[in-house]
Amino acid sequence: MALMNINFLQLSRSYLFSTIGEKVKALREREKEAPLLNLGVGDIALPLAPTIVESLKDAADDMGETVHGYGSAEGHLFLREKLLEIEYGGLGFSAEEIFISDGIVRDICDIQDLFYHDATVGIIDPTYPAYFETTILAGKKIHLIPCLEENGFIPLPPDQKLDLVYLCSPNNPTGIAMTKAHLKLWIDWAKEHNTILLFDAAYEKFITSKDVPKTIYEIEGAKEVAIEFRSFSKSAGFTGLRLGYTVIPKELFLYSNKERHSITSLWRLRQDIKTNGISYTVQKAGFATLFGAGKKEVEKQVELYANNGKKLKHCIESLGFTCYGGTDSPYIWWKIPTTDSWEYFDFLLNELHIITIPGRGFGLSGEGFMRLSSFITEETLNQTINRFCNHGDKLCVMK
Ligand code: PLP
Repeated sequence: MALMNINFLQLSRSYLFSTIGEKVKALREREKEAPLLNLGVGDIALPLAPTIVESLKDAADDMGETVHGYGSAEGHLFLREKLLEIEYGGLGFSAEEIFISDGIVRDICDIQDLFYHDATVGIIDPTYPAYFETTILAGKKIHLIPCLEENGFIPLPPDQKLDLVYLCSPNNPTGIAMTKAHLKLWIDWAKEHNTILLFDAAYEKFITSKDVPKTIYEIEGAKEVAIEFRSFSKSAGFTGLRLGYTVIPKELFLYSNKERHSITSLWRLRQDIKTNGISYTVQKAGFATLFGAGKKEVEKQVELYANNGKKLKHCIESLGFTCYGGTDSPYIWWKIPTTDSWEYFDFLLNELHIITIPGRGFGLSGEGFMRLSSFITEETLNQTINRFCNHGDKLCVMK
């Protein structure tokens, strides 16, 4: 008899996105022609930018002429060096500290492999579900850090010691970005408590506020406590291609008894064992997003999504509601007139045919809010605004 990892039994029985999928499917079965508008899961709504498509074709041609077999587990040097130059210029990193991945959700989850099995993990509530679920699967201890409206949804360091803490800024789901001062607080706290901060910067390209840093390493001391994750998914439309990277400064260490071990070296070893590199064509496409026409085209897409968010927020506020996010982020965090966000989700889905995400799906502290994604087309935006305006009374009915 083979025994299972019983941590699976600790997972809540239904995963957020599959529950939403089932509810949408049930509606489709009842009303085949329901004109659904999807502001839910947060996948991209625009096709790949033309220069990126060309770079994929060129890379495929190149592979038809020259052998490109396994690449190195940490990713091709051409991409790592370009990322250092464009994204981390002047911050003193070397190519050995940057690791390319097939999207960051894997790295965000797998980084826990490096830590003691019984480590305590700080998770902000509400949270991007993967941090929570992966910690359960790893059998590590969870310490929830409530992130509440009264603090403007800025998480504050707790009073106790934690081994690692997931921070996400600009945040999914609340849409709030932490300023340099907020992050400095966390960095000082992490130094004092020997905590490693896992900084998820998936939405960094949406930052426009001056006091919000684009990378945590802009802040003094961050290299001694923080690992940063960046994704091409939402910044360049790569959700279907899969590309991201993780920055692990050489100043970071973990301890076994009294011996210290470089986290950069541990992760390299782990990658050597568990990956055989990332697709050459996809890395070439990622490279093309970093300069010239490719960069301009993907920036334009981000700008379009960001403008959608602003218009959406404006519309909901004009109906008398309070909304957070939508400034340095593609997400709107909408305060709804009920404490049952699943009930409100059902109402929006069944009456307005709009797919959203109930705040409860991101944790207990998400209750009373809905998350709306601005990864939509202009047409979806206009239809959504029309439906919200036409049903203004109904939206407020539970107020
Ligand atoms: N981190 C956050 C906060 C996200 O919202 C997402 C995707 O929605 C990811 C990570 C996953 O990124 P990737 O597509 O690079 O795996």
